[in-house]
Parts: sequence; C-alpha cells; structure tokens
Amino acid sequence: MDYDVIVVGAGNAALAASVSAREAGAKRVLVLEKAPQEQRGGNTHFSGGLLRFAFGDVRDLQRLVPHAEEEWPGFTAGVEAYPEQAFLDDLMRMTSGRTDRELAEILISRSYETVCWMHEVGKIPMEPAVSLGAVRVDGVLKWPTGAIIRAVHEGVGLSRHWFATAEAVGVEIRYDHGATGLIQDAKGRVTGVLVRSPDGLRRFRAGAVVLGAGGFEANMAWRARYLGRPWDHAKVRGTRHNQGDGLRMALDIGALPSGQWTGCHATPISADAPDYGKRELTDKTNRLSYPYGVMLNLEGKRFVDEAADHQFYTYAKYGGMILNQAGSLVYQIFDGKVLHLLEPRYATSTPYQADTLDELLTQLKLDPRQAACTLAAYNEAAGHGAFVPGVLDGMHTEGLEIPKSNWAQKLDTPPFVAYPVTGGITFTFGGLKVNERAQALGTDWRPIPGLFVCGEMVGGLFHYNYPGGTGLVSGAVFGRAAGASAAGA
Ligand SMILES: Cc1cc2nc3c(=O)[nH]c(=O)nc-3n(C[C@H](O)[C@H](O)[C@H](O)COP(=O)(O)OP(=O)(O)OC[C@H]3O[C@@H](n4cnc5c(N)ncnc54)[C@H](O)[C@@H]3O)c2cc1C
Repeated sequence: MDYDVIVVGAGNAALAASVSAREAGAKRVLVLEKAPQEQRGGNTHFSGGLLRFAFGDVRDLQRLVPHAEEEWPGFTAGVEAYPEQAFLDDLMRMTSGRTDRELAEILISRSYETVCWMHEVGKIPMEPAVSLGAVRVDGVLKWPTGAIIRAVHEGVGLSRHWFATAEAVGVEIRYDHGATGLIQDAKGRVTGVLVRSPDGLRRFRAGAVVLGAGGFEANMAWRARYLGRPWDHAKVRGTRHNQGDGLRMALDIGALPSGQWTGCHATPISADAPDYGKRELTDKTNRLSYPYGVMLNLEGKRFVDEAADHQFYTYAKYGGMILNQAGSLVYQIFDGKVLHLLEPRYATSTPYQADTLDELLTQLKLDPRQAACTLAAYNEAAGHGAFVPGVLDGMHTEGLEIPKSNWAQKLDTPPFVAYPVTGGITFTFGGLKVNERAQALGTDWRPIPGLFVCGEMVGGLFHYNYPGGTGLVSGAVFGRAAGASAAGA
C-alpha cells in the first residue's frame, strides 16, 4: 500500500478531508489535484469565501472574529442570532422541502463547530463579510441572517490557507494528477486510483479513497445531458476542471446517485464575463444588487419578483431564470437613489447610463417601446410603503402581474443605469448518496468499503435553490467527516 488515504481533488472539501485524515491518525495522506499548480484549488479559489452556519448568540462569533466590534462599531447590534432551526427552515424553504433531512441535520448541527475547526485547525483567518450582504442603515451595518463571516481574502485566502495547512501537517500534494478510475479488490473494497499524470498512466494504492473532485458544471456535454438546453451554452463561474470525473468514477463502480441531477446553482453575472472563471476576477462578475432595481429581458418585460427575498435566498435560482430568457441576456436597471447600495463588485464593469429612462432604453438591445411601457407600469404601481435597505421592508408594487415585494421604489431619479447580465453556472446539485460517515453507498444501498465522498459531489442537500454560503460549510463538514472516516477505514 502506497498511502493510508488518497484524496482526489484539492478544493475546500478535499483539503479539509486531508487535514482531518492526518488529525485522525492517517500517516501517509496524498492529495491528487488534476489542475496544474497555477490553477489549483477548484471552485474554492473563485468563491466569495462566505460561510453560513448556525449560532445561538452573536457572542459565539467572537471565537472567529474577536476584533469585529472594534473594527466595525455596532457589529454586535447589527447581527441577529441564527439558531439551527432557522438554518433548517431556510434550507427547507429554498429546496421546497426536498433537502435530504438526515444530511441537512448533520450539516447544520456541525456547522458552527466545523467553521471553528476550519479557523483553529485549518488556520483560516476569518472576517465579517462586509462588502457582500451587509448594508449600512442609519450608520449601522445590517447583516443578512446566517451568512456573516467569510475567509479573509475570500476564496483566494481560503484556498491558500488550506494548502499551507495541508502541507504543514505533512499531506503530500501532486499537481497535474487527474484521477481517471477507482481500483477495487476482489471483495469490492476501493484500494486505490488510476491516475493520468505527466509520467503517463499510474496506479496509486491506499487504505481508503476520498473523492472531493467537484461537480460536472464545467462539462458541457453533461450539462446538456442532465440540465438540458440552454445549459450547454452557460458561462462557468469557476474552475474549468470540474468535469464530473469523480462522479463518473464512482458511478462506474456502482455508487448510488442522489439529489437533483437536473438542478444547479447559477447566478446573475455580468454579460461580459469570460466563458470560464478568471482566477484574478474570482466572483467579481456576480451582479446581486437586483433587489434594489428592476430586471428587463430583451422583450422589454419583467420576468420575476426581483425582491421576493434577500439576494442570498434568490440569486442561486435567478441565474437559471436569466439564462432561460431570450438571448440569455437581461438588464438590471437602477436609478440614482440606490447606486450607493450596489455591491462594490459592480465597479468591475461600466453600465449604460442616461439622464432619462427613455434615453437609457435606446442604448440597450431590448424592445424599447415595450420596455418603456413596462417601466411606466412599474412606476405607476411602485412606492407602497417605506424604503429601508437591508431588511425586508415590504415596500411593494400594487396591481402588477409580476409584483415586486420589497424595496419597490419608483425609478425616478437620474442618473439611470443599466447593467447587462446573463446567468452563470456555479455548481451542479446532482451527486452521490452518502451516510453520516460520508461513506458512499452503492446502488444496493450498502456502503462501498473504502470509498468516501465530500463537497459538491455529495447529493441531496440542494434542490432548485440554495441559501448563500452553504457550499463551503457543507464541503468542510462532509470533508472533515470523510477524512476522519477514511483514516479509520
Ligand atoms: C464564483 C464562485 C463563488 C462562490 N462563492 C461561494 C461562497 O461565497 N460561499 C460558499 O459557500 N460557496 C461559494 N461558492 C461555491 C463553492 O465554491 C463550492 O461549493 C465549493 O468550493 C466546492 O468545494 P469542493 O471542494 O467540493 O470543490 P472544488 O473547490 O471545486 O474542488 C474540486 C477539486 O477537484 C479537482 N478535480 C476535478 N477532477 C479531478 C480529477 N479527476 N482528479 C483530481 N482532481 C480533480 C479540481 O481541480 C479541484 O481542485 C462559489 C462558487 C463560485 C464558482
């Protein structure tokens, strides 16, 4: 046997697994990363590093961000507790009750301790995620519930610290090593992996294998197969290396599929975003301040309640809705009253701008007459209630077929701006069935000896939609479990 544990992949989940395996006593741990070193780290590198976890009291956050109150006066007053039940309610609501209840309870009940473990054992520095969901109201920062803390330097910092910690605890990492298949013994136990490496095809033997190789979001053929049109044409927000290899390898030996294979996480992103994520841009192409404006498709129509909820409860679903509009292109339109509320990352593109709505519309590719009618009807219907950014203020439209339920101010103050936006895929929801030890089950519903799964490859948690900040915590919870289980396998 070459290694005690082999971990396939080098994102948040896989590196959590590798560190956890060492912590649990595995002596020789190997991480196989398909990407070259300069492209390492999967979607984790591209992520916003935002972490959703349950906590009973704002003081629990001190373990992660002891200086938050000094740096952000009023931090403590602006944060609401996020009990386990609230997290579960959000997950149930987002997934229309379809989340795998057993996995959801594991995720939520271990979420706080696991984020502390990332910080204390993974050595990942944390900070309040000020530039993401936080909004200043009367001088006080209001925070979206549950998703308050992120890794310092976001996904770039998270990934870099995971690699540093894995190396520091003696995990061996091989880049340009893409796993292509699983090796089994006569009893069906997984005993190693086949690998395509710069030295050709190789076999590595191990006591147990952990798969943390991401979903199939970068594989256009699989997108066409499982998600259908127009997903084969979608821009990929993150890594180009998540091609579903880990899923295919596991399915090939009889692993049990789980979760929503027709579903994925996709968000509104700048229409000029590259086809695959750019490492320097990371998640800066996201365009998530739409609750403060109006979205028009090329027919000049609104197609969704922009402010049905806070953006972290709608963005993962609205990306797909935008992709499915004609031309996969829509415009986010704002007026001068809310420009200061747009997330700072809007600054990475230049919007169309004009002093009147009509002038603005003539610059866009949409049907200007229909668009003018839509905006006139919207302005007529808007303005019922008082505008309070950062909290669901109930300021709504009246009489529209597609309402706007919050922050529905009239668009009446120049300058008027429009950001062209498309839908970009983040990760796929279809995965594999695992038990509480993160062990893969077979299609006979029995555990496959020696095989553990974590991260995007775990199926069942997410359907239709997703509460922002859950992917990384789920990766860490099941990665940590997979590593510890594999060490003892
Ligand atoms: C732009 C963007 C922003 C995001 N922001 C957030 C956020 O703020 N908060 C949040 O919770 N989630 C966020 N997400 C989602 C989050 O990044 C993912 O859920 C999480 O990173 C997945 O972790 P993972 O370890 O499963 O996969 P990844 O981090 O994608 O890692 C998969 C790894 O497997 C490797 N690999 C693939 N195939 C093979 C093979 N055959 N052999 C060896 N290695 C292989 C890849 O190269 C990669 O290293 C974001 C995603 C994106 C793209």
